[in-house]
Amino acid sequence: MSGPAVRHLYVHVPFCRAKCDYCDFYSLPVGDDGSARRRMAEYIEALHAEWAATAARYDVQHLHTLYLGGGSPSLLGPELLDRLLAPFAPLLSARSEVTVETNPEDVDDAFALWAAPGIAVGAAADSRCPVRVSLGVQSFISSLRAALGRAAAADPEAAFTRLRMAGCENVSIDLIYGIPGQTFADIARELIKVALLAPDHVSWYELDLDHATPLAWSLDSGDRIDDDDDEERAAMYVRIVHGLEDFGFRWYEVSNFAQPGKRARHNIAYWRGRPYLGLGPAAVSTVGATRWRNRPDAAGYAAAMHEGPEPERDYERLSVADRARERLFLAARMGAPVSLTLIAPALDEAAVEPLAQAGLVSLRGGTLTVTRKGRYVANAVCVRLFRDSCI
Ligand code: SF4
Repeated sequence: MSGPAVRHLYVHVPFCRAKCDYCDFYSLPVGDDGSARRRMAEYIEALHAEWAATAARYDVQHLHTLYLGGGSPSLLGPELLDRLLAPFAPLLSARSEVTVETNPEDVDDAFALWAAPGIAVGAAADSRCPVRVSLGVQSFISSLRAALGRAAAADPEAAFTRLRMAGCENVSIDLIYGIPGQTFADIARELIKVALLAPDHVSWYELDLDHATPLAWSLDSGDRIDDDDDEERAAMYVRIVHGLEDFGFRWYEVSNFAQPGKRARHNIAYWRGRPYLGLGPAAVSTVGATRWRNRPDAAGYAAAMHEGPEPERDYERLSVADRARERLFLAARMGAPVSLTLIAPALDEAAVEPLAQAGLVSLRGGTLTVTRKGRYVANAVCVRLFRDSCI
């Protein structure tokens, strides 16, 4: 056992019913028949093998957060989710945060009733950790989901309501703006839905298309509705921030909004530079100055874990300047103060004063903070602040 204590774990589940047109996450379409379930069960065995080898190398006495992402972890269903979680349950407590990324089409009664009471954890027979459900809505408007090439057609509002009716007390929703054809009136409709449903947390991302996705190809070839321009997207973003704040959400990260006490602790751990481990193909881990990424190859992963002890990985040594840039970038997104000493290796000091004059950053007590005004354009502010910009 070596290195700093690790308290945060990400587990990748690289299966989806079908592939959505805008998606560049590492995931494989598997459908939902019997062979898919066999494949998922075998995958869980491989994950457990990776965990056994990884846990033996790091000080993981307790998990503060566990995040099941994908892909579609909810596609596993209650039985396989319980099987997947079994080796982690003794490391969790009632105060841990367990998040399960969930697609609306997977939310049947069985799933909702599995998530609502939380999962049995720790040594005490009655100790349970709540499950935080992160629901991939993307849009409440079916034509916009179609514009995204969402392969599944389930109604996200019905899924949300089913989760609430079952008793799920911590439900986050993911939304996207900048969808081809999306208008200001659509943003207003999405905001009204959020107000009516009252989720605990909202992640509302700008559509950022990888050039290798089918949606990007079709936009390039002019088959779809024209892309929105940057100014319109910026105005939509301002509308979203104001709208959610009017409903009592706190804007605590560029794309994330939470009701009091409902911030995503796992993501905050990333943003604060805490060490974390990731399991499964394409999963990333960072401990100290070492970052590694499992190769995005599910078949290779399964074969490697059959042989043991670890999958093929790409390792990276983060330099002092790399880590300083990352600290500054993540603090900027959260509007959190960051020590000038800590970010000095990455900072272009000459850029600070003009940005402060423009009200985009503030300096106080040896720290730099990207202001609320600066957070709207956090990437651009970082480009100015970085000594050698390449974001
Ligand atoms: S369900 Fe999510 S992870 Fe799966 S293909 Fe669609 S966007 Fe990607």
